[in-house]
Amino acid sequence: MHLACVDCAARHPAEMLYACSRCGGILEVADPARLPRPIAGAGMWAADAALGVADPAMVATLGEGATPLHRVPRLAAAIGAAGDLRIKDETVNPTGSFKDRAVAAAVARARELGLPGIVCASSGNAGASAAAYAARAGLPAIIVVPARTPAEKLTQIAAYGARLVQVEGHYSKAYDVGLEIARRHGFANVTTTYLNPYGVDALKTVGHEVFDQMEGTVPDWILVPTGAGPLVKGVVQGFRERSPGRRPRLVAVQAEGCAPIARAFASGEREVRAWGPPTTFASGISDPLVGYERDGTHTLDLVIASGGLAVAVEDAAIRQAMALLARSEGILAEPTGASSVAALAVLLADGRIARDATVVCLVTGHGFKDLKVWRDMPADIRHLADPADADRLVETTLAGGTAASGATGGQPLRDAS
Ligand SMILES: *Cc1c(COP(=O)(O)O)cnc(C)c1O
Ligand SMILES: [Zn+2]
Repeated sequence: MHLACVDCAARHPAEMLYACSRCGGILEVADPARLPRPIAGAGMWAADAALGVADPAMVATLGEGATPLHRVPRLAAAIGAAGDLRIKDETVNPTGSFKDRAVAAAVARARELGLPGIVCASSGNAGASAAAYAARAGLPAIIVVPARTPAEKLTQIAAYGARLVQVEGHYSKAYDVGLEIARRHGFANVTTTYLNPYGVDALKTVGHEVFDQMEGTVPDWILVPTGAGPLVKGVVQGFRERSPGRRPRLVAVQAEGCAPIARAFASGEREVRAWGPPTTFASGISDPLVGYERDGTHTLDLVIASGGLAVAVEDAAIRQAMALLARSEGILAEPTGASSVAALAVLLADGRIARDATVVCLVTGHGFKDLKVWRDMPADIRHLADPADADRLVETTLAGGTAASGATGGQPLRDAS
């Protein structure tokens, strides 16, 4: 196993390195170390032993990965998809997002290298993962988050016993603090941009799983909620390994209030520039990339090479997609998690994706992570004063037509009492 620079191809030893010492480029794991055998019953470790760790005793697993790929006929009908539409449901990971895959692998490698602790800059989800896996591994953890992180995410990080540090400003400020702590104290930085090559490498398991679950059909399109883009890279790499002949086209989905990659794509630029302060409620992809714009450029390269797209969706469309996912298929997503479905609806409507295409949407984060958004959604609440009225209630329920079938109509839960 060694690390290789994606820009200048320099070779580096498989230590905890975060950038190419020659050119500053992104590092990737080449020829990853393998466990002697897969770990039965342990999520992604049961399917893929080549995750950059050689010693099974170093793997602190909570069963991350090996997530379901659902057929979603009612959702498909609602958004006008006439082909095979699937949802890769990453909400069921142990801490509620796909970040568990990256962090579990990065923490295992940190243990193998004997590092003293874990640090992670996060908009919430990676921090929850880092806190959980540090606890599982018995390592101290410092999690650095921007001041505006949703309360549920802060609660979750604190619950795992990590030291939680809030910094004023947006995500990129937290990122810089994480870098300093890793540099000065030798903590393993498991921040889930392209910084940690072992973490990014483990995201290939998403691509592997989708390929295996489709039983030989390669989807035409895969839509990926995208911040810096490691998840895009994971899907690309997974398919590169499993299906060298035929590859899916990738759609990097961003929110209109923070869309550095989609903006570059739309204007035909090949270099991604940093975004200003984010103005979207999709906290998981509120990454303006200040100071590490090259992460965005790397992701844009991958998307373009796949023949794909980078698009931005409005918060209102995301809200609609959240309601559809929950109400038509029983999948509860945080705003970021549902952005892929919101983008698909737009791309089907404007013809950029054909209605009969085979499509996979990644749903990346659980609705429990941002319940405030759900409390503001219309809900169908009735008050029953007299038990005798229950018959009438059942009748109207069977007849359908509840107020809450979409994101409009009904009343928000927070207004009901
Ligand atoms: C981090 C995150 C993303 C974005 O992932 P990147 O690999 O940074 O592009 C998408 N969805 C959720 C829920 C996330 O937490
Ligand atoms: Zn380099």
